[in-house]
Amino acid sequence: MQERWDHFIDGAYVAPEAGRYLDDVAPATGNKIAEIAAGDAADAGAAVAAAKAALPEWRVRKPIERGRVLLSIAKAIRDNASMLAELEIAEAGKPAFQVPFEIEAAAAYFEFYGGLVNAIHGETIDLGPDYHSYTRREPFGVVGVITPWNSPINQAARGIAPALAAGNTVVCKPSEFTSASTLELARLAVECGLPRGVLNVVTGTGAEAGAAIVEHPDVRKVAFTGSIRAGREIGRIAADRILPLTLELGGKSPNIVFADADLAQAVPGSLRAFVVNCGQVCMAGTRLLVQKEIHDSFVAMLAQFITNVQPGGMIGPVTTKAQYEKVQYYYELARKEGATVVAGGALPDNPDLAGGWYVSPTIYTNVRNDMRIAREEIFGPVVVVIPFETEEEAIVIANDSDYGLAAGLWTRDLSRAHRVAAQLEAGQVYVNEWVTGTIETPFGGYKHSGYGREKGIEALQHYTQIKCVTMKL
Ligand code: NAD
Repeated sequence: MQERWDHFIDGAYVAPEAGRYLDDVAPATGNKIAEIAAGDAADAGAAVAAAKAALPEWRVRKPIERGRVLLSIAKAIRDNASMLAELEIAEAGKPAFQVPFEIEAAAAYFEFYGGLVNAIHGETIDLGPDYHSYTRREPFGVVGVITPWNSPINQAARGIAPALAAGNTVVCKPSEFTSASTLELARLAVECGLPRGVLNVVTGTGAEAGAAIVEHPDVRKVAFTGSIRAGREIGRIAADRILPLTLELGGKSPNIVFADADLAQAVPGSLRAFVVNCGQVCMAGTRLLVQKEIHDSFVAMLAQFITNVQPGGMIGPVTTKAQYEKVQYYYELARKEGATVVAGGALPDNPDLAGGWYVSPTIYTNVRNDMRIAREEIFGPVVVVIPFETEEEAIVIANDSDYGLAAGLWTRDLSRAHRVAAQLEAGQVYVNEWVTGTIETPFGGYKHSGYGREKGIEALQHYTQIKCVTMKL
């Protein structure tokens, strides 16, 4: 990994105008591994200017030609998978076995939208014989894509690929903790024939570089993935600017296990739902609702399975020091709130992990849904187990949350599966598997988990605006 990373603007690496850099620290050791450009409004302005200059040519390219460039970016991501994987492992602390899935997902986004771009159609509207009326789906112009640190290249590709496919140009601001793979993605894209300025990456903090993108008058749409706190701040600026937003925010997703579920699937599936990526997954199933008659046996089996999830083995460290401290804060809060620790609940005591930001996978029982550990997003491998008696009660508890990103349910009763799925207040519902990694399905939140949709055909709709043309015949 190189020691210093600059912005990527107008097809080249560019030093920050003010000459400032941030430390880039490895979660596995706590040691500094590189420096990242600390961007500010001047750097964001340069990137937006490059994106604006590149727009006229890119937006009028034939969709099939834009699609071809995206397909070659997909190939370049796959061809450079080991280089990109090295960056993700170093900066995000991901275990090596997990990273190929993330890189493949990034490639697949470019593949999916590179093909789908040919299907961005308008419609004709019948106003009778005297008029011809039709709609066109047009790009917004310069789009800001702001991403978090938990799946860096995967989430960058999730926003960038549909935005470019639709004919927008992009200024991306990755998390200040995990910027390298997004910078390299932009460099590879230019090598694949993406014109200079169509994709720019400005690094730095949210308060400086991120906010400067949202405030810039030439940015016409922002797609943000991250915390509710930052989503609110961006929303306030956007309100003044009448700026369209996609907000993908956090979650505290309920995962409901009915007594008739196939426990051979439900136990390991419910475990994966909250430990994958060390729990740093927005749609993690972290509120586990278990029907009373199987509660004790289910918890016993989960406690048995969780012994296989060792920090430093199946899960890496959490990605930031602040996140490490946050998980410990919730261990303490759970103690104060009177939850019972079934597993974990404290830092791992393995001396080989000293220095890294490792936390223990944790199960709490004796939890009520009104306790803070059941209501607040921890973003670590921590689950709270809450018993319920009836289907109606499960739905009430599941929906009693400010969040509404995902929900899961496990049952052999097909009618119940559809009945409950329809009543859960969540943007996606998983039945008999905690489904992750799909690109084709729309993804987004209800309630405080955000609005707009990423992934699937729906994302293309959110990166285009509709113009209606009506003509008197
Ligand atoms: P964060 O909100 O702190 O930061 C996310 C990004 O926004 C970073 O690039 C950051 O620099 C930038 N940012 C922060 N404040 C900003 C501001 N005022 N203006 C502009 N940009 C700003 O979130 P995080 O800690 O990096 O990520 C964790 C959060 O992200 C969790 O809440 C998680 O649930 C959420 N998340 C959601 C999804 C989803 O698809 N719904 C996916 C992954 C993570």
